[in-house]
Amino acid sequence: MNTMTETNHFTQDDERALLDAIDAWVEKSVKPIAREYDHEDKYPASLVEEMKELGLFGATIGTQYGGLGLPASTYSKIVIKISSVWMAPTGIFNSHLIMAAAIERFGTPEQKEKFLPRMATGELRGGIGLTEPDAGTDLQAIRTVAKKNGDHYVVNGNKIWITNSGNGGAILLLVKTDPTAEPRHKGMSLLIAEKGPGFIVSNKMKKLGYRSIDSCELAFQDYKVPADCLLGGVEGRGFQQVAGGLELGRINVAARGAGIAKGALRLALAYAQERKTFGKPICEHQSIQLKLGEMASQVQAAELLVDHAAKTYDRGERCDMEAGMAKYFASEAGVFCASEAMRIFGGASYSVEYEIERFYRDAMLMCIGEGTNEMQRIIIAKQLVARNAQ
Ligand SMILES: Cc1cc2nc3c(=O)[nH]c(=O)nc-3n(C[C@H](O)[C@H](O)[C@H](O)COP(=O)(O)OP(=O)(O)OC[C@H]3O[C@@H](n4cnc5c(N)ncnc54)[C@H](O)[C@@H]3O)c2cc1C
Repeated sequence: MNTMTETNHFTQDDERALLDAIDAWVEKSVKPIAREYDHEDKYPASLVEEMKELGLFGATIGTQYGGLGLPASTYSKIVIKISSVWMAPTGIFNSHLIMAAAIERFGTPEQKEKFLPRMATGELRGGIGLTEPDAGTDLQAIRTVAKKNGDHYVVNGNKIWITNSGNGGAILLLVKTDPTAEPRHKGMSLLIAEKGPGFIVSNKMKKLGYRSIDSCELAFQDYKVPADCLLGGVEGRGFQQVAGGLELGRINVAARGAGIAKGALRLALAYAQERKTFGKPICEHQSIQLKLGEMASQVQAAELLVDHAAKTYDRGERCDMEAGMAKYFASEAGVFCASEAMRIFGGASYSVEYEIERFYRDAMLMCIGEGTNEMQRIIIAKQLVARNAQ
């Protein structure tokens, strides 16, 4: 059973009021700065402060820890709304909330009390530190090692692409506590790693899209983590804990993909009515209508798949197949709609004066993050077989 179900007292009226507040905030604060901040790869510090006020850092954290305790179905609608204007800022609270969800689900009572209230306010902002230069999809191949030494672990190794690790204060760090274990996953653990001596942010990476948000390379050099920060208090459970948190992560990447698709459609629809060729708006040409019809259908389908996966998650049911389908379809819809919108904009699509080029650059990440779309289809197929065993 996930914790959101337990803490959810949210009515439809509450949801509507919250989504209206998000809409107003996006119009007032996000839309006006998106193009400049993206082009200059500038961290949106003002948005972080406003996200704190909106409660976004505690969106899915239980109310007993000071969070909003939102169900995933409401949370995913928030993510779609923001991503339909600028996807990148959602990354500031998304991976933070995956970290929080893992602590809430697997942490000891002391760990929950120590970290979740600070995370809910945004005072402590986090992310997830899994990927290494030589291990992404194959996470069991990680080489970062944590050796127990009395009341703490000593960590050595490297991570790459870790979102929020530059501006945030902590990450959930995947390590090998027993590098010789067989099978390999039995030697893996998660540490709640707050910044300190030996936790080195070695490089803020330059990216095609998803700019403004810090994705960094990290080096751990004799970095000490208190032993009571081992998630759940028992070694060897890290891989299962990561897998358990991926469902929420996939729903949220799916929501970002659906948001990108929706935003690209909105921009293309407006442009197609303004731009005239051969004496009429281009939306009256059949080739453009075919694109708009296909894009609108994909947007609708993506939103429905996200909502279905989120509601399955909220009921506390196993949803790796549903989340995988939503993540796969919605992220591909994002790429498709952004790319079709580029064609509708014609030459203007290549001008940085228009917004659509950002959607095009941002879209592809959703096919890669939280498990590549190749892996999603494999997960879907395995679940299909398991659920329909002959
Ligand atoms: C902007 C950005 C932000 C990120 N943020 C984070 C973060 O916050 N935290 C974090 O831990 N990571 C983060 N990542 C890393 C991301 O999760 C990985 O890039 C992703 O998991 C893929 O791993 P990889 O890049 O090592 O690709 P690889 O694992 O090398 O895969 C390369 C290709 O091979 C395919 N492939 C691999 N194995 C198989 C298989 N068994 N069957 C079929 N196909 C396979 C993949 O689908 C892919 O097409 C981020 C990445 C980016 C680009």
